[in-house]
Amino acid sequence: MEKRLRFSLWYFLGAVALLFLLQTFLIREEAGQITYAQFKQLVGTGKVTDVVIGADYVSGKLTTLDVEGILGPEQIKHWKDLGGANYYFRAVKVDDPKLVEELEAHKIAFSGRVANTWLANLVSWVVSLVFFLVLWGFLFRRIGTGAGAGGGLMAIGRSKAKVYVESEIRVTFADVAGIDEAKEELREVVEFLRTPERFRRLGGKIPKGVLLVGAPGTGKTLLARAVAGEAKVPFFSMSGSEFVELFVGVGAARVRDLFEQAKQKAPCIVFIDELDALGKSRSINPLGTHDEREQTLNQLLVEMDGFDPNVGVIIMAATNRPEILDAALLRAGRFDRHVALDRPDVRGREAILRVHTRQVKLAPDVDLRVVAARTPGFVGADLANAVNEAALLAARRERAEVTMQDFDDAIDRITVGAERKTRVMNKREREIVAYHESGHALIASVLPNMDPVRKISIIPRGIAALGYTQQLPTQDRYLMTRSELEDRMAVLLGGRVAEEIVFGDISTGAQDDLQKATDIALSMVTQYGMSETLGLRTFERERRSPFLDTPIMSPKEYSEEKSSAIDSEVGEIFRRSHERVHRLLSEHRAILDELAHRLLEREVVEGDELRALLPSDGDTQRAAS
Ligand code: ADP
Ligand code: MG
Ligand code: ZN
Repeated sequence: MEKRLRFSLWYFLGAVALLFLLQTFLIREEAGQITYAQFKQLVGTGKVTDVVIGADYVSGKLTTLDVEGILGPEQIKHWKDLGGANYYFRAVKVDDPKLVEELEAHKIAFSGRVANTWLANLVSWVVSLVFFLVLWGFLFRRIGTGAGAGGGLMAIGRSKAKVYVESEIRVTFADVAGIDEAKEELREVVEFLRTPERFRRLGGKIPKGVLLVGAPGTGKTLLARAVAGEAKVPFFSMSGSEFVELFVGVGAARVRDLFEQAKQKAPCIVFIDELDALGKSRSINPLGTHDEREQTLNQLLVEMDGFDPNVGVIIMAATNRPEILDAALLRAGRFDRHVALDRPDVRGREAILRVHTRQVKLAPDVDLRVVAARTPGFVGADLANAVNEAALLAARRERAEVTMQDFDDAIDRITVGAERKTRVMNKREREIVAYHESGHALIASVLPNMDPVRKISIIPRGIAALGYTQQLPTQDRYLMTRSELEDRMAVLLGGRVAEEIVFGDISTGAQDDLQKATDIALSMVTQYGMSETLGLRTFERERRSPFLDTPIMSPKEYSEEKSSAIDSEVGEIFRRSHERVHRLLSEHRAILDELAHRLLEREVVEGDELRALLPSDGDTQRAAS
């Protein structure tokens, strides 16, 4: 509605201006200019009629052109050239109180007029109105951001909704490297956007929302754009942080606009960057609620629920903190498809460097594989930055090509910055992490009960995990036997014990493992009745609510003595497990070293490779017993 109003305002102003011009032109054209003295003479001789007395001018009509005695030949020629039957004239007015009397005396018809002032008035009125409207809007916007004004003001911000739409994206999958798994997962989305009819005909189920999860700089934004580029569809984008600064109602209106526009342009992609700024869990906010964010979030949920993915709109979002997102966002039918963007491994980093050095002139001594090996922990953005820095350094040194020296210096420079910012491990830390993860992986592989190891990595992930060992569950589990629980504990202790054996010292890196191991040992004693000394009783000490992170303490159901008995029993389980792990790792020390060595070299080792290192089955069985 506001839009229409503004439109007609412009039309109106245009019309006024046109009228103004027309009037001045027409009158200038038609009316001959005469002096006031001449006018008075004409009045005296009765050769005028229809006199109009304005504020600044008097005008009227000559009754005849037979006025040679009074007007000059030039002036008369004006009317002759016009060729009409009416001879309009105009004279600048002089203060003349007797004029009316004179006109009456000569029986000349006359009228008064407040000349053109209606026009002037109108213009000044409109100008001041516009001025106040602008001022008003500005003031309220200010107030709105400060204190959160009422919802009635939302109409102002509405037409302001700026949606960034790019219809031709040049970025393609070729520009994205080192995150091949994520790329693979998004191929399907590209296929759908390219030929939605094909999918619709087959009744295929298309994801509505795809959430890209990864550390800053891993290429989430880039990848989303690349999907649009590959599929050649329009790309609507908005950043979650933009919404938060707005005043109440505007964010929600923008979301509505965004989806409205997107639906008209389907197939297309709607991308919401930094979703966490908007979709923070509603319960996290300590100071009550942030109305604006919540309204916007609710609107987003409404929009996501309200449309059929078959129209061909795919919603993508990016976040580096999926854990703080509101659970409602992750529910089925919303952002239920998650694509993880890991930090790239050596080979990935090399591939990213290749992408970014396509336009850079490299000296023959530059080996990108070596550059990649020197940049553990770097993400795509860091690598792009490194290439750029190196090129700048080379230019400053007036070189024709970028040399290895430039790369080295650039990496040093960025590492210093990055160490403060993100985790870039030093050599010693990398060794510790490599042995720690090898310890987990080796124990998991030699114990027959355990799921096979899929992948071991020492690429830091998130804030806490410096490396990880991924096990692939072979089947869903509903029950676990005692020996399985014991094996699981052994795997958890594997990391810590490997550090102990190799370095004779231990690090803080095992905290999470120990926590989990403690949980297992405690449950064995207090819940599953698996302790010999305490027997079949359960001693439920604390219950974890499935919905809350904080444990709910329930009153103790047992005596102090029992409590210390539980403690010592848990201690005993730990002692036995530790001994067992220590023995296993010492026996396989050579494999442990080899595995850690390979990890340090390549950062990622696949499960199959690890299994190839292990002795045959018979040996494993003996070792595990
Ligand atoms: P994020 O959105 O995850 O924080 P961006 O997509 O904004 O990261 O990445 C910033 C820049 O870093 C990109 O524009 C690109 O130049 C570079 N970059 C990041 N990841 C990659 C990658 N996987 N391949 C190539 N370039 C990358
Ligand atoms: Mg981004
Ligand atoms: Zn560990």
